Amino acid sequence: MLWLLASCEQPRQIHLLSGETMGTTWSVKVVDLPAGVTLTSVREDIELLLESINRQMSTYRPDSDISRFNQAEAGSWQILPADFWRVIRYSLQLAEDTDGAFDPTVGPLVNLWGFGPDPKRDKPPLAAELEAVQARIGYQRLSWRDADQALLQPGGAYVDLSAVAKGYAVDKVADLLIGLGVENLLVEIGGELRAHGAKPAGQPWKVAIEKPLPGVREVAHILAMKDIAIATSGDYRNYFQAGERRYSHIIDPRSGYPVDHQVVSVSVLHPRCAEADALATALTVMGAEEGMVWAEARQLAVLFMVQSGSTVEEFASSAFRRLVTEEAMP
Ligand code: ADP
Ligand code: MG
Repeated sequence: MLWLLASCEQPRQIHLLSGETMGTTWSVKVVDLPAGVTLTSVREDIELLLESINRQMSTYRPDSDISRFNQAEAGSWQILPADFWRVIRYSLQLAEDTDGAFDPTVGPLVNLWGFGPDPKRDKPPLAAELEAVQARIGYQRLSWRDADQALLQPGGAYVDLSAVAKGYAVDKVADLLIGLGVENLLVEIGGELRAHGAKPAGQPWKVAIEKPLPGVREVAHILAMKDIAIATSGDYRNYFQAGERRYSHIIDPRSGYPVDHQVVSVSVLHPRCAEADALATALTVMGAEEGMVWAEARQLAVLFMVQSGSTVEEFASSAFRRLVTEEAMP
């Protein structure tokens, strides 16, 4: 029976799966697969799941549930599929809690500024165009009905869940794997990620937070991640430049303009990636000063990177500092 013994002592390895979704890439690392589960079947399950999320929440697909809602007649109730419902309900709560800094109805502004399915632009829109679109913005315009999970299209409302959908999809993939009996996993979509368990020899999963400096990329922190998610928002990857100015893809729905302060990035640690993702966007809109007070009041683990002259300064909330030191201990 020597061969059996030998096969038992095979080093446990990390299996990697990856693909494309939501205009970006996804990747999954798993350590052991439970009996009866193969890498091929896991890949199929993940792809089906991501497809179902896109069919519900992609504004890039004219036939998605979200696009159907966005084009629906004024005054009509639309019954939403489960994931879309969950994400819009959470987004509306966050909109209220942030006084509209985060707003799922920001879509027409996102599109006008060239960051949605419409073509990119190289100069800002005219004041008159902005004004015309503002009438369609405002989370208060949306009403919902819990009984049949329906959302009322008040007319011209265009929901955009891009600030939270990637994080939500990370959670769904993680939950799927956990449901299959996988204990050690790392799920990532477009840089938002969630980790459970540990690597083969029991070391924690680790992620790096970059310090985005002009021209160079420096690692600011390496975090040990256990049963937690992290998401980062920032203007350093998705923007357009017109003259001296950079226009970010994160828009303050209250002014109609892309955020214009010195926040380079915001990272949020949270047990769920959907929340981490949405909160990172919300805090980017609020800015470091207001955002930090808001985050401290809610005991959120957040890290702001703020441009200060030619350097980048960091501001970490107390929950972030606590989590990071604890996680770093053996
Ligand atoms: P990324 O997509 O680069 O990871 P985010 O998670 O911050 O970044 O999401 C940004 C997207 O969220 C934008 O492209 C836009 O579709 C949407 N968005 C922009 N501003 C807001 C806002 N104030 N509230 C909610 N969603 C927003
Ligand atoms: Mg986000």
